[in-house]
Amino acid sequence: MIVGVLGLQGDIREHCLALGECGVDVAVVRRKAEIEAVDALVIPGGESTTIAHLAQVFDLIDVIRSRIGSGMPVYGSCAGMILLANRVLDAAPNQITFGGLDITVRRNAFGRQVDSFEADLDLDGMNESIRAVFIRAPWVESTGPAVSVLASVVSPDGQRRAVAVRQGPLLATSFHPELTSDNRIHRYFLDEVCSKSK
Ligand code: GLN
Repeated sequence: MIVGVLGLQGDIREHCLALGECGVDVAVVRRKAEIEAVDALVIPGGESTTIAHLAQVFDLIDVIRSRIGSGMPVYGSCAGMILLANRVLDAAPNQITFGGLDITVRRNAFGRQVDSFEADLDLDGMNESIRAVFIRAPWVESTGPAVSVLASVVSPDGQRRAVAVRQGPLLATSFHPELTSDNRIHRYFLDEVCSKSK
C-alpha cells in the first residue's frame, strides 16, 4: 500500500515521517497522476485556504473529489479536516473544500494563533489518552448521521466540541498528531480505516 501526502502546503514532512515510522510506503503527491496512483491520502495541517487555492491552480480538485467519491481512505488533520468538510463556517470568501465528510466545521473556532493549546484527549477505541496539539484549530459544529465522533474537548464557552470524527474511509482531527511523537492516530488510520475500507 502507498499512502500519499498532499504536498501543496503545510506540515507535509511531519506526516511523511509519522507514516514512515508506521512502516508504510509514503509518497508526496501534487500531480493528478500521482493522486490517481496512491491507495490512501493524507491532507496535512496548514492553511486550508492556501491548500485549496493551490489545488485549484494545479487542477487537482476534480481528481481528489472523484477519488474521495469512490471510497479512497483519506485522513485530514486541522486544515485537512476543513478541506474534507462538506460545510465550513467562518470560511474565507469563496473558500472551497474537497468535501466528502458530512460535517459542518467552524474555522479558527478556538481563537487566534495565540489561543493555540494542548489537551489530553480520550479517543474512542484507545486505552490511553492522546496529547493533542491544537493550532488555530477548527471544531466540528455538527455532524450528519453517518459520522462518528471519536473525541471531543470542552471549549472556552463550556461546550463539548467534537475534534475527531470518522465517516467510513474518511478520518479527520482538529489537532495535529504529526507534530508529536505519538503515532497512534496514523496507526489507527492505517490499521482501522485503510485496512477495513478495502
Ligand atoms: N486555521 C487554519 C485554516 O483555516 C488551520 C490551522 C492548522 O491547520 N493548524 O486552514
